[in-house]
Amino acid sequence: MPRRLTTTGGRPVADNQNSITAGPRGPVLLQDYQLLEKLAHQNRERIPERVVHAKGWGAHGTFTVTGDITEYTGASMFSKVGKQVPLIVRFSTVAGELGAADAERDVRGFGVKFYTDEGNWDLVGNNTPVFFVRDPYKFPDFIHTQKRHPRTNLRSNTAMWDFWSLSPESLHQVTILMSDRGIPVAPMYMNGYGSHTYSFWNEDGERTWVKFHFKTQQGHRHYTNAEAAELIGRTRESYQEELYGAIERGEFPKWTLNVQVMPEADAEKAPFNPFDLTKVWPHAAWPLIEVGVMELNRNPDNYFAEIEQLALSPSNIVPGIGWSPDKMLQARIFSYADAHRYRLGAHYEALPVNRPKSEVAHYHKDGPMRFFDNNEQTPDAFYEPNSFGGPAQDASVGEPPLRISGDADRWDHRDGNDDYTQPGNLFRLFNDEQKKRLFGNIAAAMAGVPEEIVQRQLVHFHRADPAYAEGVARALGVENRAAATEPVGA
Ligand code: NDP
Repeated sequence: MPRRLTTTGGRPVADNQNSITAGPRGPVLLQDYQLLEKLAHQNRERIPERVVHAKGWGAHGTFTVTGDITEYTGASMFSKVGKQVPLIVRFSTVAGELGAADAERDVRGFGVKFYTDEGNWDLVGNNTPVFFVRDPYKFPDFIHTQKRHPRTNLRSNTAMWDFWSLSPESLHQVTILMSDRGIPVAPMYMNGYGSHTYSFWNEDGERTWVKFHFKTQQGHRHYTNAEAAELIGRTRESYQEELYGAIERGEFPKWTLNVQVMPEADAEKAPFNPFDLTKVWPHAAWPLIEVGVMELNRNPDNYFAEIEQLALSPSNIVPGIGWSPDKMLQARIFSYADAHRYRLGAHYEALPVNRPKSEVAHYHKDGPMRFFDNNEQTPDAFYEPNSFGGPAQDASVGEPPLRISGDADRWDHRDGNDDYTQPGNLFRLFNDEQKKRLFGNIAAAMAGVPEEIVQRQLVHFHRADPAYAEGVARALGVENRAAATEPVGA
């Protein structure tokens, strides 16, 4: 005897095949509530897709500490070598909608939620160490260039290159995007980066700036444009197939987590702004320190509940980890949590996949879908401070002060910024074949872009390395007027 089917109200269902009609050919009766309920539920099976990072793939796993970094951080998850914490990861593309093909040229989101014993720590980064803009004021405009044109409802190469060529800080990320790493074969064959500068703080209240790097243990694998086009003709779901399949077969992907650390006082002396999201910290000056291994070893049981409703946000940090003055990070602290409140509702953090595995005790109250118990344990303590033993602050987890100050103004984010050296360094790392593919990928992505915009962008390539502009111009079959032209900034 199978389990009994019930309504959402728990009543056993006698017939799930035939609606109630007036006679065998007759119209349906309004009283067939179960029919109405099924139709109404179907209408509500979607929530708004994420405006960015809509298409994603994810899995559960564990993080194991292999290196001692307790001199930098008091975070409980790093407290001793061998310690493990459960986690969940969501990978994604940025621009495509929910039904987009997986193997598209795009930056990949690489977001991890660590369920630590002092709350959730979300490290919500990308497969690239940098980003297209350094000031969040420009972020909505940038995303508009990646999405559909309002009239044609098509993506626009012209919009992308117009914006990039007017925003030279994007050159570093554009170079990575157009390089071989722009189309990883599947999530396990790419690195992940926290991208922003964060901070560690230790038991003595000392702060250290930090960058996070997940290095793939599966090796880098990517598709060329031609390989991706052929693949997408066969399957649009290649990442889901690869990631889900590998984990089902017991082939658990792994990444080594490394950090770069910079003493708080050294930030002033760095030759570039260490809080600028368009810059990396060169490894020679700030070497990688190994911290642990992340393994993905369990597929979600319900994709919607665990991946579509997974709410990652840089606002989730834990004692021992802090933010930094990075303007983009500061904006994401607000906008990610706000996106979840909009998509999932005010109590999104109480959903099973988002709920911390450590104790949660707050005084947020009602609103749609208030489904959790009184955290206060005594119903009389529903405000704070109170005399009824409700949860109270604990000064011992207080963060040391952020030693940053300055005059409030709209400071020019371009001022003194070198947008060209680091993209040039990356270009010079590529061998001849990699450079050739870079030129070809850029030429393909520039199809249909007006000559004036192409020439403006060639100037940026030229400033990074004259051979970069030469190669792109050759691939496009256009004259390279870059050396004689001044760059244009916005
Ligand atoms: P290093 O030679 O020490 O490091 C080069 C880095 O480049 C490695 O981390 C490597 O990653 C990465 N890399 C190789 N090919 C690509 C690609 N197509 N797209 C993105 N990254 C790639 O030099 P530096 O630290 O001095 O950095 C030089 C340049 O390398 C930087 O300007 C930056 O563009 C790029 N880079 C630097 C990183 C950093 O944190 N310093 C991180 C990633 C890129 P892997 O080891 O996994 O192969």
